[in-house]
Amino acid sequence: MHLKKLALRDYRNYESVELATEGAVNIIIGPNAQGKTNLLEAIFVLALTKSHRTHQDKELIRFGAERTMLRGEIEKKYGPCTLDLTFTNQGKKAKINGLDQKRLSDFIGALNVVMFAPEDLNIVKGSPSIRRQFLNMEIGQVQPSYLYDLSQYQKVLAQRNNMLKTSFRESKVNETLLEVWNEQLVTLSIKIMKKRQNFIHKLQKWAESIHMGITNGTETLEIGYVPSFAYDGSVEESVLFEQFMIKLSQAKDQEMRRGTTLYGPHKDDLAFSINKKDVQTFGSQGQQRTTALSLKLAEIEFIQEEVGEYPILLLDDVLSELDTYRQTQLLETFQTKVQTFITTTGTESLQMNRLKNASIFHVRNGQ
Ligand code: ATP
Ligand code: MG
Repeated sequence: MHLKKLALRDYRNYESVELATEGAVNIIIGPNAQGKTNLLEAIFVLALTKSHRTHQDKELIRFGAERTMLRGEIEKKYGPCTLDLTFTNQGKKAKINGLDQKRLSDFIGALNVVMFAPEDLNIVKGSPSIRRQFLNMEIGQVQPSYLYDLSQYQKVLAQRNNMLKTSFRESKVNETLLEVWNEQLVTLSIKIMKKRQNFIHKLQKWAESIHMGITNGTETLEIGYVPSFAYDGSVEESVLFEQFMIKLSQAKDQEMRRGTTLYGPHKDDLAFSINKKDVQTFGSQGQQRTTALSLKLAEIEFIQEEVGEYPILLLDDVLSELDTYRQTQLLETFQTKVQTFITTTGTESLQMNRLKNASIFHVRNGQ
C-alpha cells in the first residue's frame, strides 16, 4: 500500500500542511525540533489511532488549538481509500471514505505501518512492558479482534484486582464471585496468549532469516515467548483452561496479600537470543540494535503475509546509525516493494546514490 497524500490541521507544530507523497522513497530533512518526527508520527497515528511516543492523545493537538485533523489518502491493492481522524479533548473520531467508524477497531488496519526509531532498541534492552506494548501494537494492527480481547481483558483484570484488594481489607472473600472473575480472566487470557504465540512463531521465521542475512550468516536469532506461567500452546484449550484455573486457585492467598493478579498476559515477556546466548544480557550494542532492526523488518514480511500487501515503512533517524552495509541491506531489500519515509538531519551520512529517485521534503518550523 502507498500513502499518496497526507494533510494535517493543527497537528503538533503544524498549523496546516498538505503533502504529495506518492513516491516510493520520501526523505524528510531538517534541523532538530522542526517537525520531522511529527510527520512520521502522524502517519503512524493514521494507522493505529494512537501515537508511538505518547499515550496522551491531547498532546497531538497543536498548542492553543481545540482539535487536530489528519487525513491520509492511500492506494491499496483494491483501490483508493481516504482516512480521516479528528482528535479533540473529548476523544477521537475516525472515518473511512467519509463514513463514521463506530469502533476504532474497525478503522485500525486500513493502513499498515512499521515504524523503526532509535527508541526501538528498548524492545530488546528495556522492560517487559515495552515488549508487551510491541506485541499489542503489531498484532492489533493486523487482527483487530485481538485489540477487542485485550480491552475486555483489561476491564476484567481491573475488576478482579479491585476485588482482591477489598477481600484482603475486609478479610473475607466472595468465592462465587471470584470464580466468575477467574473464568473470564482465563478465557480471555487463552485467546490473547494463543494469538501472541502464533505471532511470535511467524515473526521468528522471518527474523531469523533476515538477521542471518544482515550478519553475513554468522548469527542465529531466536525469539521466545515467555508467558507468565508454563503454557504449552499445543495442548487442548480445555486442558489449558483447567491448568490456568488451578494456577489461580493456588495463587489466591498471595494475590490477595499483594492485591493484584499475578498471572496472565499482563505479565508476559519475550526473550531474544543470538547463537543461544541471551541478547539482553550478553549482546553487544550493535547486536542489540541489529536484533531490533531484524524484528522490524520481519514485521514487514509478517504484515505482507497476513494482509496480502506490504505496509509503509517509517524510519525515524535510524539510517545514519547503521553502517553502510546495513543501510544498503535495508534499502535494497525493500526499495521497490515498500513505500518508505525517512527522516534525517542531513544527507551526508545517507547513501544518497541509492536514493536517486526519492522525493525530498525540507521541514522548517512546522512548514
Ligand atoms: P529531531 O531532529 O530533534 O528529532 P524533529 O524535527 O523530529 O527533531 P519533532 O519531534 O518532529 O522534531 O518536533 C518537535 C517540535 O514540535 C518541538 O519543537 C515541539 O515543541 C513541537 N511540538 C510538539 N508537540 C506540539 C504541540 N502539541 N503543539 C505545538 N508544537 C508541538
Ligand atoms: Mg525527530
